[in-house]
Formats: sequence, C-alpha cells, structure tokens
Amino acid sequence: MPVFSRVSKVRLLTCDERLQALFNEVIRERDCMIVCGFRNEVEQNKAFEMGFSRKRWPEGAHNRLPSLAVDVLPAPYKWDDIEAFKEFGAFVKGVAFEKRLIKGLKWGGDWEAFRDWPHWEVEPQVPLTPLPLRFASTFDTIGLRPIGVGA
Ligand SMILES: [Zn+2]
Repeated sequence: MPVFSRVSKVRLLTCDERLQALFNEVIRERDCMIVCGFRNEVEQNKAFEMGFSRKRWPEGAHNRLPSLAVDVLPAPYKWDDIEAFKEFGAFVKGVAFEKRLIKGLKWGGDWEAFRDWPHWEVEPQVPLTPLPLRFASTFDTIGLRPIGVGA
C-alpha cells in the first residue's frame, strides 16, 4: 500500500479536512505526492508570475487556511504525462463518489480554458464568519446547524 512522504503529509495538513479525507483514501491505492496545499503571499504571486496560477494573492483557493485547494501529482511524477493525470483524475473522482466524501468537488483537469491537471478544489464551508453571539447557543459548534435539526 503506498503512503505519503513526510513532506506530502505536512502539505496535506494545510488543506481543508474534506481534501485530507479524500486523499488519505486515494493514497491507499494510488501512489501520488502532494505538491502544494496552502500558498502564502510570496508563493502565490510567484506561481502567478510563472504562469502556474491565474490568480494573485489572496484570490486563489490555495490562499485560505485551511486551503480549499490541493495540487497532487500522480506517480510516476511526470508533469508532462497528461494520460497519467487523466487516469488519476478519474480514479480520484471514483473514490470521492464511492466514499461520499465530497459533494461539488472540482478538478482543474476539467477546466477547458485553463487545464490545471494537478488541482483539486472544494467549495468553502459555511458559515465563514462567526455567528452573532445571540445566535451562538442555538447552534452546535461542530456542524454549525441548529441543535436538534438533521443529522
Ligand atoms: Zn492548485
């Protein structure tokens, strides 16, 4: 069973928990490396200038902490191996579907205007701002839904 390198693990820990759950499943069957999770201002603007990203800090999905995006390179770690990216992309989607890990997962490989093969992204979880204090007691702090509603 493949495992993440130490540096891949550290990078994945900067990502949204949903991306962590997904790629911790993926690595059980497919060898891959986490190239990038969170990107700070210097890293983001460098990625923009080098043409790897179309966004400047702090507009990118990699610029939130935890990061809403992760870049993953499948084995055998060749950036120009488009077939490997396509095959890996289909596999990751299959895992996401099968494990019901992520609703609305987006893959940069599907973006026709700008194919971003290693890029996986999730929507922000709501709410993003703290609740007004007067509402706080009626919401649980984990699921952020009214207590007693849903499961
Ligand atoms: Zn990315």
